[in-house]
Amino acid sequence: MLKDILTQEELTLLRKLIEESEAVVLCCHTNPDGDALGSMLGMAEMLRMMGKEPLMVAPDQYPDYLQWLPNSEKIVRYDKHREHVDTMLKVADLVFCMDFNTCSRTDEMAEALQSSPGHKVLVDHHPGPDVAATLCISHPELSSTSELVFRLAWQLGMFEQLKRHFAIPVYCGMMTDTGGFTFNSNSPDIFFIISQLLTKHIDKDKIYRNVYHNYSEHRLRLVGHVLCNKLVVDQKRHAAYFTLTREDLRNYHFVKGDAEGLVNMPLQIKGLKLSISLREDTEREHLVWVSLRSVDNFSCTEMATRFFNGGGHMNASGGRLMCSIDEAVQVVRQALEAFEDTLK
Ligand code: 5GP
Ligand code: MN
Repeated sequence: MLKDILTQEELTLLRKLIEESEAVVLCCHTNPDGDALGSMLGMAEMLRMMGKEPLMVAPDQYPDYLQWLPNSEKIVRYDKHREHVDTMLKVADLVFCMDFNTCSRTDEMAEALQSSPGHKVLVDHHPGPDVAATLCISHPELSSTSELVFRLAWQLGMFEQLKRHFAIPVYCGMMTDTGGFTFNSNSPDIFFIISQLLTKHIDKDKIYRNVYHNYSEHRLRLVGHVLCNKLVVDQKRHAAYFTLTREDLRNYHFVKGDAEGLVNMPLQIKGLKLSISLREDTEREHLVWVSLRSVDNFSCTEMATRFFNGGGHMNASGGRLMCSIDEAVQVVRQALEAFEDTLK
């Protein structure tokens, strides 16, 4: 059986906020991943079950490999429908912040979100929540925000009524944030939750294939190119890094989502503790996206905060650098040097 995630006061407050709301908006972070979309879609399904008609908003494009998610076609993109979303945020009386801990993670949307007069409910698993929320449901110990959404449904006593359109995105979010249950997923509760989700007749094998076996030929060749020609392994420091330049992206017909999972691959090398990827933005000059992945107790969060203007989780963090790709490589070298002792 699952332990309650909310105190009685929080549960009462959540119920009251939902019951009294008329215009509900849900939003997630920029570059939405499986957990961002999964948790938002799952929460929206719960709200619909409670008689609400929530608007789902993503700051920008979501990857091809998630476009099969039921109801994802209803998600409104802020970068394409700015005025509409601005208006909706102005009249919203309830706003759910899904899978992010600070409004800046919504980039261009941050201002409109912050100035929305609606009550905010934060539902997230990133450490250090920093959103002025009426109710802050922050659980960094959980595998994913989608797991948190399941637990909310469970505690609210709604799970029985919910159907596949709830179970599919929630399973997808839990699966993607744990790399197909290969990291951050040792809690027995996770497998209890999966067993419950399976009672809704979801095809988990198909969900896996939809996400992980859904790439173009170009993406597979891009992986080959990176591993063969771009990967730099620093054996002494048990770390590896690679760059993806705009030229690489062009040559391999890069589309959003193609870099997904690439940064995890160097960790397949025996003894490696840290992997870093540097990806030039496809449009903006002097913007390099950084991803970090580690194993065991090496803190990506610390390195991402100190060197890459970012943050995230212990074993998976991200950030960005406003410089050229060559300068970004220099920053990586400095970071590896600074953390040399921890990496040994
Ligand atoms: P990714 O490498 O997939 O972009 O990000 C890995 C993890 O780090 C994700 O959980 C994401 O939420 C977090 N993350 C990525 N970029 C940032 C950032 O700029 N700031 C913070 N605080 N977290 C980030
Ligand atoms: Mn997440």
